[in-house]
Amino acid sequence: MDKNLILVINCGSSSIKFSLIAPDDGSEHLAGIAQNLLSSAANITFKQNSEKLNYSLPEPFDHETALASIVGFLQDNKYAEHVCAIGHRVVHGGETYSQPILINDQVMNTLADLAQLAPLHNPANITGINAAQKAFAQLPQVAVFDTAFHQTMPEKAFLYALPYDLYQSHGIRRYGFHGTSHYYVCHEASRLLQLKQNQGSFISAHLGNGSSICAIENGKSLDTSMGLTPLSGVVMGTRSGDIDPGIIFHLINGLGYSHEQVNNLLNKESGLLGLSELSNDCRTLEEAMFNENNQQAKLALDIFCYRIAKQIAAYAASLTTLDGIIFTGGIGENSDYVRAQVVQSLSLLNIHIDEELNVATRFGQAGNIASKSSRACLVIPTNEEWVIAKQTAEVIQAN
Ligand code: ADP
Repeated sequence: MDKNLILVINCGSSSIKFSLIAPDDGSEHLAGIAQNLLSSAANITFKQNSEKLNYSLPEPFDHETALASIVGFLQDNKYAEHVCAIGHRVVHGGETYSQPILINDQVMNTLADLAQLAPLHNPANITGINAAQKAFAQLPQVAVFDTAFHQTMPEKAFLYALPYDLYQSHGIRRYGFHGTSHYYVCHEASRLLQLKQNQGSFISAHLGNGSSICAIENGKSLDTSMGLTPLSGVVMGTRSGDIDPGIIFHLINGLGYSHEQVNNLLNKESGLLGLSELSNDCRTLEEAMFNENNQQAKLALDIFCYRIAKQIAAYAASLTTLDGIIFTGGIGENSDYVRAQVVQSLSLLNIHIDEELNVATRFGQAGNIASKSSRACLVIPTNEEWVIAKQTAEVIQAN
C-alpha cells in the first residue's frame, strides 16, 4: 500500500459515513458508519473485506468521539500511514464553489455563510470538518460539493420566476444536488457507449431516498430537478418533491399548521411514505404490492414512476440530442419494476427496454437494458465516494 489513500467522510447531523479509497482505481480498503450520534445509543461499524465490527461509542457520543474512534482503528490496523488526505462531501457550495477546494479558514467562513442556504445539511458538514481537523491535524482536507456539478446550468434553467432581486441579493436560485453522482454516471455512460470521453447527451435519474433527475450534455449539467434545497423535483422517500406552493399557505392559514409542522410534513412525512401510509422504502412497497396486493403501495409507486417519467420527458427541451437515459441510486440500480414503469411512459422518446435485460441488471451490475431499436437505457451503479477521492487527490496534487 502506498501513501495515497483518501479517507472520504460524509457527515450528517447524527451520522458519519466513511470509506478509505484508492483514488486511482476506486478500490475500497475500509468503510463504515457511525450512527445515533449525540445519543447514548451512539455506535460505529467498520467494514473490512466482508467482516463487520461494531462498537459502542463513549461519552460525549459526538462527532469528535466518532472521528477519534476512526483514527484509532486506522492506527491499530496499520492504515494510518497510508492516508494522504481527507475528502469531505459538502452539500451546498452555493455559487462560490464550482470545483472542489482545499479547506482553510477562509473556506470554513464561506461554508458557515452558505449554511443559511442548506440549514439541514451544511452545519453537519461543518461539524464533521471541524472534528476531522482535530482528529487528523496533519492531513490536508478537501471539500467536494454536491452542488458544484450543476454550476454549468444556464440562467434560464437556474432562475426562479421570482423578483430578480431575491437572486441578486439573497442567492435564491436552483442549485441542484447529487452532483457527484450525476457527474460519475454520465462519464461512465460515455465509456459504456464507446463515445469520446465526456461526450454524449444524457438524462440521468438518481433514484434513492433522495431522488433527482439531470439533463447533461458533454459532461455538463444543463438542468436538474432539485432546487435551492433538495426538497423540489420528483417524489422521494419522505420528501414531497414539487407541489403547488399555494398548498403551504393553505396549510398554515386554512388548516392551522405551524411553520415547523409544514417543514416536517414536506421533508419527513410526504413522498412514498406519505402516499402509501406504509413506508418510504421502495423495496417494502414493492413487496406489499406484489405479496399483499396493497393498492396504496401501488398508487405511491405509480405516482413516483409517473413523476420521474414526466421529468425525464421535460428535459427533452434542454437537450438537442439524446444518447440515452441513465438509472442510478439504490432504486435506479436495483428496481426493475420502477425502471419498467418509468420507461413505459417514455415511448414517445423512443426509449424501450428489453424485459430480460432489465430483470437481469441489478445488484451492482452496469449495462444497457434497452431493446434493439431503442435509444440507450443504462443502469450504472453510482460511486460518489470514488469521485470524492479522485477529486480530493487532484486538489492535493494541484496545491
Ligand atoms: P440514499 O438516498 O439514502 O443514499 P439509496 O441510494 O441507498 O438511498 O437508495 C435507497 C432506496 O433503494 C430504498 O428505497 C430501497 O428500498 C431501494 N432499494 C434498494 N434495493 C432495492 C431493490 N432490490 N428493489 C427495490 N428497491 C431497492
